[in-house]
Amino acid sequence: MKNDPISAPPVGIEPRYVIGMGRNDGEEKQCSHLYVTTTGSDRDLLPMCRKGWNRSDGESFSIFRGHTGSRGICKTCQKRREQGLPGVDAVPGSHKTRWI
Ligand SMILES: [Zn+2]
Repeated sequence: MKNDPISAPPVGIEPRYVIGMGRNDGEEKQCSHLYVTTTGSDRDLLPMCRKGWNRSDGESFSIFRGHTGSRGICKTCQKRREQGLPGVDAVPGSHKTRWI
């Protein structure tokens, strides 16, 4: 969804990033992903890479905000942030997750 107002940063609003550790069992031993809001509202968080959609086979996510897994922060998310790229929209069914 290219014209989604959430993933296209509006002019004048700085993106704000949140580290999110998945709430699924075992994710504390994995890397955490970055989530971004460009509206200022945490209800509009989008992950910076597709793996941040950690539930329902890529349709939703559930995270502990501000927590980092023992493998640090996802390299893809960090790279996308450095490049100024937007968060990624959910693509239902894009990848298997163990949790719904
Ligand atoms: Zn990531």
